Order: sequence, then C-alpha cells, then structure tokens
Amino acid sequence: MKRKRVVLLGATGSIGDSALKVARDIPERMEIVGLAAKSNVEKLALAANKTRAPAVCLVNERKVDVLQSKLEYEPKIFVGEDGLREIAKLDGADMVLIAIVGTAGLHPALDAIETGKDLAVASKEILVMAGEAVTQAAQKRGVKILPVDSEHNAIFQCLDGRGSEVRRIILTASGGPFRETPRKRLERVSVEEALKHPTWNMGPKITIDSATLFNKGLEMIEAHWLFGVGMDRVEVVIHPQSIVHSMVEFADGSTLAQLSYSNMCFPIQYAVTWPDRVANTLPPLDFSTLGKLEFAIPRYEDFPALNLARRAGETGGTLPAVMNAANEVAVAAFLNHRIRFPQIWHTVTEVMDRHRPVAHPDLGAILAADQWARAEATAAIGNS
Ligand code: NAD
Ligand code: MG
Repeated sequence: MKRKRVVLLGATGSIGDSALKVARDIPERMEIVGLAAKSNVEKLALAANKTRAPAVCLVNERKVDVLQSKLEYEPKIFVGEDGLREIAKLDGADMVLIAIVGTAGLHPALDAIETGKDLAVASKEILVMAGEAVTQAAQKRGVKILPVDSEHNAIFQCLDGRGSEVRRIILTASGGPFRETPRKRLERVSVEEALKHPTWNMGPKITIDSATLFNKGLEMIEAHWLFGVGMDRVEVVIHPQSIVHSMVEFADGSTLAQLSYSNMCFPIQYAVTWPDRVANTLPPLDFSTLGKLEFAIPRYEDFPALNLARRAGETGGTLPAVMNAANEVAVAAFLNHRIRFPQIWHTVTEVMDRHRPVAHPDLGAILAADQWARAEATAAIGNS
C-alpha cells in the first residue's frame, strides 16, 4: 500500500503532537512532507529536525531567523499567511491535515483542494464557517474530506458508504468539566476549572468550547456538512466516559457505534490509512477494566450552545460563521479573564440576534460576516 505524503498545518498544537506520533508509529503508511505553525519556533524546529520534512512554514515572519538558526538541515522555508497557502499546495503531497485552531485554515484548505490533495480536517471551525463552499469545492475537484474530529471520524467509520439509509446521527459529548455543576455556580467558574477537561487533553480554545458545549454545537454543524444530513437528524447525547465516539442510527432501527479510548491518534491514523486498517501500538479497549458506559440527555437550558448551534445550522447562510466568530472572540475574552463563563453564550446570542443572514454566501460574504461578528462581539464585551 502506498505511503501517504502529508502536509501538517498546526504542527505545534495538540492535534499536531498526535499526528507526529501517528507518523512515527506507522512510518510505512505516513510520511510528513510539510510542517506549519504560527509562532512556536522551538517546537516547530524540533518537529522538523525529527521528521526531516522537506518543507516548513512559519506564519509569524518575525521569528524566521530563530527558526533557521535551530534547523539542523535545509528544508524549503515558507513564511507568513501566503506561505501557509503555498505549503498547502506543496508538490508531491497527497494529503493536507488541517489542525489549525480557528478559521486561519480556511484558505489553505481551499488551496489544497484546488491542487487535488485530499483533506484531513481537524479544524471544525472551517466547516462550520464555510461548510458548503469547502464540501462543494472538494466534490468538484474529486478530492476526499476525511474527518479527524473523533466524533466525525467515528460516524465516517459507521457509515462506511451507507449514507442514504441514515435516520439519525448521534454525537456523543463528554459533558465537559461542568456536566454536573449547578446552573447558578456556572456564573462563578474559573478559567482554570474550565480548562480541566475530564477525558480529553486538548488546546485551550477547544477545551473551553467543550465546557460550554459550543464544541458539540460546532460539531453538529460540522456533521451536517460532512455527511449531508439535515440538522434535524443530528442529535447529541451525553456520554461521560468518552469511549463511544459517536453513533449512526439506520433506517431499520439498527445503531452502529465506534469505540476506542479517547486518544486522537486513533482518528488521525484512520483518516490517513483509510480505507485500510493497519496495526499500530495504540492500546485496544480492555473490557475487564472499562466498567460502565453511561448516556444522558444534555442540559439544554443550562448550556444554551446546543440550541444556538441548531438555530445557526438550520438557518444556514452566514449565521454559522457569525456564531463561530463571536464564540472565538468570547472564548479569548474568557481566557483573558475579561468576562465570566456564561457571558460566552450571552455574547454569541447577542451577536447572532443582530445578524441578518445571507443565504448561500460566497467566500467574500462569509469572510465579511466573520469580520462583522468579531467586531460586534468585541463591542458587546467592551460594553458589558
Ligand atoms: P492547539 O491550540 O493545541 O494548536 C493550534 C495549532 O494551530 C498550533 O500548531 C498553532 O501554531 C496553529 N495556529 C494557530 N493559529 C494559526 C494561524 N493563524 N496560522 C497558522 N497556524 C496557526 O489546538 P488543537 O487542540 O490542536 O486544535 C486544533 C484544531 O483541531 C481545532 O480546530 C480544534 O477544534 C480541532 N480539534 C482538536 C482536538 C484535540 O483533541 N485537540 C480534537 C478534535 C478537533
Ligand atoms: Mg470532537
């Protein structure tokens, strides 16, 4: 079987770490040919020196000298946002793995599609923002979009080409650190508490999103675009153990689920080796110690993110991009101790309420809505 040549965008983050681990684990199936990061030169240089990736990109142009001084070989170096777009088009690469937090991966994703590369997508934000544009571009160019987000990777495994018979997609959610926290107490939870995820070890933005359940909201819209199912067929169930990564209910009432420990190496590997399954060093489930698997209905009233996401997904157009952008601004403000935890969804609600959605937006309209929402959210936070 052919070894996949992968460009990894977001190489210094949590997903980046896992992807590098997968590449070390299955070298006969995965080769890193490009690495990109925003500004962590030390970590980027370390990854480059280890993988000997022939191309490296640093978005923060001011640190390029430091990067060069740390490299032990001479890769082709790309810099800045333009560099990120160039490395996404790298000659000879088969796949681009988008593991950039936020929306900065959108243009590189479209560039990768344009040059005929398959996409492995961890960055759910770009599918929420521009799901229609990205999936249509991929279809037109005949390239695959392989989901890396664990839930979507699980659904992808359960579907296995049987999309038309689906009755429901059931996304599992751990419920985050505040799954059992009383509503009143949510007013006073600290950044440190919100950053303590019970089952996953991830970057700060997605960890806060998991605490508000915006992560699951974003994932509902992500599922809608990836699998072409209506929002009314996408549901969420709380599953604190994070062993069942999601499920698909088929028309005959049968439900398929995918189970594994919560380790992002599993979905990353499957995205790379699909349609094959290959041996690795990851631990399989040990049912003798697993104990019980629990399921519960989410607390919709106390965590409004799910209903906001449903509304954004059902309305469509530019509203998902607006929700996503307002959330990004609000999460950053919460992480900087500028707002309290519930103000994250208050800010998002306020900005969504003020937006007049544009239907079937082109990229320009999406980017304009994104910018508008960032400005509105910033103003709302400033006034609060
Ligand atoms: P992280 O904060 O740990 O890492 C972010 C990475 O993005 C870094 O390598 C950083 O250099 C890069 N980056 C940030 N801004 C950039 C920019 N403007 N240009 C280029 N690169 C930039 O984040 P993470 O937890 O690895 O998450 C990455 C993406 O994967 C997010 O969209 C997240 O929702 C998604 N995801 C993460 C996990 C997880 O387990 N961490 C699981 C599912 C999905
Ligand atoms: Mg997920």
